[in-house]
Amino acid sequence: MKKWSFLALFVTAIAAAVFLHAQNKPLMNASSSPAGSPASDAAYCPPDDAKSACGLPSKVVIDMSNTTVQRTEAEWRARLTPEQFRVARQQGTEPPFRNAYWDSHEDGVFFCVGCDTPLFDSRHKFESGTGWPSYWQPLEKLFIGEERDVSWGMVRIEVHCKVCGSHLGHLFDDGPRPTGQRYCINSASLSFMSRADYDTWAARNSPGKSAQ
Ligand SMILES: [Zn+2]
Repeated sequence: MKKWSFLALFVTAIAAAVFLHAQNKPLMNASSSPAGSPASDAAYCPPDDAKSACGLPSKVVIDMSNTTVQRTEAEWRARLTPEQFRVARQQGTEPPFRNAYWDSHEDGVFFCVGCDTPLFDSRHKFESGTGWPSYWQPLEKLFIGEERDVSWGMVRIEVHCKVCGSHLGHLFDDGPRPTGQRYCINSASLSFMSRADYDTWAARNSPGKSAQ
């Protein structure tokens, strides 16, 4: 009897290990995540968990020397709200479920709050359950810069606006089809324009048309 119960315990332990491994696997952002890091628990951004991957600020060095739009700190502070400045210019983060666009279902386009570049489309937005606006692709990849972010003992990909260097959020590889990507973005780094207004804006700003 003792032998059987030991065997049952052993099998249960193996099953639990396999289950936990399977649980963690799709949540890992990169195979190079250091052993013992909290990445497996954090990458899916559980609600109200301050240690979730999206919820942690970034510490990467963004090269501002090549950005098209450059402003002094005084100009940034004049343009942005304190919350927008903290998130977009100081690589901060906002609380999940308590931000402008996490639950937005309006049809339109999301612009960079720092330079008014169109970055994300509501047609690529999906319900990630994280409490932050999430997209499976950007509007135009050329406008999105990526930096490897190893802060907080995790390996993440920080994303920012390439035009002005404003921090946007992080990119994970556990998104839905067709890309499998999840751009976890701070609302504070975005502004929204309805589809009708965007169409007008795009027509006015398209190449070959002079601004009237
Ligand atoms: Zn920008």
